[in-house]
Amino acid sequence: MAVLADPLRLVVGDRAAKRLAAVLDLHTVGDLLSYYPRRYDKRGELTDLTSLSEGEHVTVQAEIAAVSVRKMRNRSGSILEAVVTDGRGRLTLTFFGHGRQAWREAELHPGVRGLFSGQVSSFQGKRQLTHPEYELIGAGGAGGRAAEFAAELIPVYRASAQLSSWKIANSIRVALDVLDVPDDPLPASVRSRHGLCGYADALRGIHRPVDLTDVNRSKTRLKWDEAFALQVLLAQRRLAASSYSAIPRPPVADGLLTEFDATLPFELTVGQQLAGATIADDLAREHPMHRLLQGEVGSGKTVIALRAILQVIDAAGQAALLAPTEVLAQQHFRSISSLLGPLGMAGQLGGAEHATRLTLLTGSLGAAARRKALLEAASGGAGIIIGTHALLEDRVQFADLGLVVIDEQHRFGVEQRDALRDKAGDGRPHMLVMTATPIPRTVAMTVFGDLDMSTLTELPAGRSPIATHVVPVAERPHYLARTWERIREEVAAGRQAYVVCPRIGGDGPADSEEASALAPEEDALGPARPPIAVLDLARELPAGPLAGLRLAVLHGRLPADEKEKVMLAFADGLVDVLVTTTVVEVGVDVPNAVVMVIMDADRFGVSQLHQLRGRVGRGSNPGLCLLVTEAPEDAPARERLDAVAGTLDGFALSRIDLVQRREGDVLGTAQAGRKSSLRLLRLLADEELIAQARVEATALVAADPALADAPGLAAAVRVLIDVERSTFLEKA
Ligand code: ADP
Ligand code: MG
Repeated sequence: MAVLADPLRLVVGDRAAKRLAAVLDLHTVGDLLSYYPRRYDKRGELTDLTSLSEGEHVTVQAEIAAVSVRKMRNRSGSILEAVVTDGRGRLTLTFFGHGRQAWREAELHPGVRGLFSGQVSSFQGKRQLTHPEYELIGAGGAGGRAAEFAAELIPVYRASAQLSSWKIANSIRVALDVLDVPDDPLPASVRSRHGLCGYADALRGIHRPVDLTDVNRSKTRLKWDEAFALQVLLAQRRLAASSYSAIPRPPVADGLLTEFDATLPFELTVGQQLAGATIADDLAREHPMHRLLQGEVGSGKTVIALRAILQVIDAAGQAALLAPTEVLAQQHFRSISSLLGPLGMAGQLGGAEHATRLTLLTGSLGAAARRKALLEAASGGAGIIIGTHALLEDRVQFADLGLVVIDEQHRFGVEQRDALRDKAGDGRPHMLVMTATPIPRTVAMTVFGDLDMSTLTELPAGRSPIATHVVPVAERPHYLARTWERIREEVAAGRQAYVVCPRIGGDGPADSEEASALAPEEDALGPARPPIAVLDLARELPAGPLAGLRLAVLHGRLPADEKEKVMLAFADGLVDVLVTTTVVEVGVDVPNAVVMVIMDADRFGVSQLHQLRGRVGRGSNPGLCLLVTEAPEDAPARERLDAVAGTLDGFALSRIDLVQRREGDVLGTAQAGRKSSLRLLRLLADEELIAQARVEATALVAADPALADAPGLAAAVRVLIDVERSTFLEKA
């Protein structure tokens, strides 16, 4: 008998174990049995040979039609050619051998069916497998083989030249025969509530199914394992986090926050009020808040964050606001300064009585300014410290850090979150993470499952709508001229525009803001041209369609002070058209900018386009977003662009994004790769299952935090942690 944690060597022998480890990175019985078939072939149902593409490693079921042997010229060996067929297409199997290969000729006689596995190549116009591995069906042979082919469904595993599908199947059969699962990872109560079969049963059912019902039943159960272990781990983390202590920062009666609310020029939306109240409660607790605030671009997250910051300052604490880029940190600094007015001008002429001070700390500060900022943070002189990664450095210290606000969470790793968290003196600071990237519910549950969540679903009233149109220059070249004309019209009316390109251009290395997510579509016109570059367009536009307008260029390769100057000039209306990369993507706010033209829009992801267009229509004038593309009408890229043009619902678009990208990309490296802990689970398709697993996991962890009564589950969670850790080590 063998258990899941046993090394494979004990079960399949040294040689097979070595090979499984080397080729597939499988080491334990559990690893092997979680290597699920990629498909099932029906016994006797031949593979469609016309569907094979060259270069592919395939496993096909076919019937031998003819065999011939000829001598190799100038050599003592022979070439045996067997032609196999599925009744329509044909495929040649070629074997080179010493002597006449009589034994092979005897084995491969016409009419025999088998599984053949190898890489498809082409020789003199015929497709062939050279030296394929094969296993004949109904050939008697070892008992194992006969048993394998007696089944209705033949599992086909992702195989390679070093390890064929049926060799994997053989090892799995051996492991299943000796498998003992004394502690089912899913507690009996969960199984019975959701009608799930036992673990050993499910493993047998997925590897050696009787029929498709058997496969489906087993898959559902195994999906539960994936969802449940992950949700248990996240529930444990939430519980652990809530056991840390934090200094409570309850609201006070007549503080800065009250004064600020009195000066606020608009009414908070209902969503802002609800999220604000929840956060105010969180801050008053003795345990650190860990909250994700999700809301579309322009939904008003900054105001919520600022109100939380003021509550903490009223309670004698400081707050740090961490932004992903210099431009954003500077913009936050400006917009928070202006929202606060006299309330943020402590010690200055015109400062209000209880006023606080803001400090900006970024990598580009000069030595003197930096020293001053560090002092402001350490002395407590500044209540609000806004910065980039520079805030994470060791020498940055705070007098009493009560709250950390992180803007655009997806650009920071867990380690960075922790680095800031460790800067609080007693206990931990409260933490508010903001993201403008709408994420589907289950992704949020999976990626941010250790955070509580607030979501703003509405935009403040009176927000101008954004109209989005696709500009298909392949079919309608003259639309491009019309696009530039639109910009001229808006500028003539005193408004401003963005032109966004997927590439910076010039000689520099590729930067993170360059659109690399999507490779250009393959087409019949040969290799795709490089994406349109900021530097090229900024040269061409003033000489042509935008002659006479005031243009400026913004991208990540500019020095920080230059970027700042350009953004300021644009914000002040001194620049009509900003030619830029996606550095303007998050958070940039210039209400007078009403048009955004996105060049080569097909090179951007759906969510990214949605984020980008959120930069326009922020003032009283309606926004216009033009998606310029050369992609032909029937290309998948056009469907994506039409989807963006068709809805302003970021959540709907994020689902499309998720379908298009590999889920691993969405989950980040921790979940990606061969050893991904999500094998069967699909975040969109299995939403309901994930939600149920989360409820069950939360209840179970509340009752038994250390999983003392669930040893099988504890082991499954440990495996998950190991995977996470090894991925982390690989990265480091
Ligand atoms: P986000 O950070 O969520 O993209 P912001 O907080 O930058 O959005 O808000 C966008 C703009 O809307 C800002 O100019 C802000 O002052 C304004 N705003 C925020 N809340 C409201 C509201 N309730 N009513 C009107 N305007 C608002
Ligand atoms: Mg913002």
